[in-house]
Amino acid sequence: SKEAGRNSHHFFEQSMLNAVIQKHQLVEDLRHSLANDHFELYYQPIVNLLTNKMCKAEALIRWNHPERGLIPPNEFIAIAEEVGLILEMGEWVARTAASDLAQFKKLGAADDFQISINVSPVQFKGHGRWILDWFKYTEALGLPRDAIIIEITENLLMESEDSVRAQLTKLKKRGIAIAIDDFGVGYSSLSYLQKMDVDVLKIDKSFVDELENEKNSRELCQVIIMMAHHLDIQVVAEGIENAAQKQILTNAGCEFGQGYLFSKPLPIETFKKQYFIHSSP
Ligand code: C2E
Ligand code: CA
Ligand code: CA
Ligand code: CA
Repeated sequence: SKEAGRNSHHFFEQSMLNAVIQKHQLVEDLRHSLANDHFELYYQPIVNLLTNKMCKAEALIRWNHPERGLIPPNEFIAIAEEVGLILEMGEWVARTAASDLAQFKKLGAADDFQISINVSPVQFKGHGRWILDWFKYTEALGLPRDAIIIEITENLLMESEDSVRAQLTKLKKRGIAIAIDDFGVGYSSLSYLQKMDVDVLKIDKSFVDELENEKNSRELCQVIIMMAHHLDIQVVAEGIENAAQKQILTNAGCEFGQGYLFSKPLPIETFKKQYFIHSSP
């Protein structure tokens, strides 16, 4: 009826309005939390699949919301990107990860231990001054230049914009390693991996999930691993949850893995205790 139509119209408007208010509130909260240090980095080990030893770790952001508790990144990164707050957040991540790494080194992390951080494509769209500021910061901490990996998405690699390329080159020149995150879900091609001198390729969890049941996924992973090694690129498989997946990947020649089978992302104190502070007898 006409009446019902008008009601649903009102309902629709009301729910849209609520969504706008909620988003506005979220942005305000993000701003407030950035100013008040309400974020944390969790660390998830990346292991050598042959020795099961940790050799790298990925830093993953968590929002410690004053009222709502711990909020995962999927609930705020996209909005932070949309309103530009990702720039400030990204700088916080890069600095915090660097000073955390300096701590891990003091606690006895191996010389070739690396941490990897996620950098949003939006962070590459600006002037890139954060890179120079951050270089100064890492230098002051005395960190080895090749101890940090920056994870970008493969679509960024395909960007034709010169400024994006220039920034990636600047990072590479300083010895920062570049990893392609979520590999296989975007559109990158072999030639780009080679041209940009990529160091690490991370096979997306969606392929790892299918390894046991899909012959196609197994074959695709095999090809990716072979091709990467041919180009002298390390391969990390993401989201390994069981021993069967690990076995298939090891058979295919994959060297590194990350996933709940080894460890979930851990708060820094737990991470330090489990991996660096060994009680001596
Ligand atoms: P990602 O970079 O692909 O990170 C891997 C995600 O998979 C993490 O989710 C991790 O907790 C989860 N994961 C790892 N192993 C397993 C597993 O075995 N099973 C399952 N089910 N999940 C696993 P998280 O921490 O919620 O992060 C989600 C996404 O948020 C990340 O995906 C990344 O794109 C983004 N993100 C996280 N931290 C940052 C950051 O500091 N900056 C930016 N720009 N993005 C970030
Ligand atoms: Ca990542
Ligand atoms: Ca990933
Ligand atoms: Ca992913």
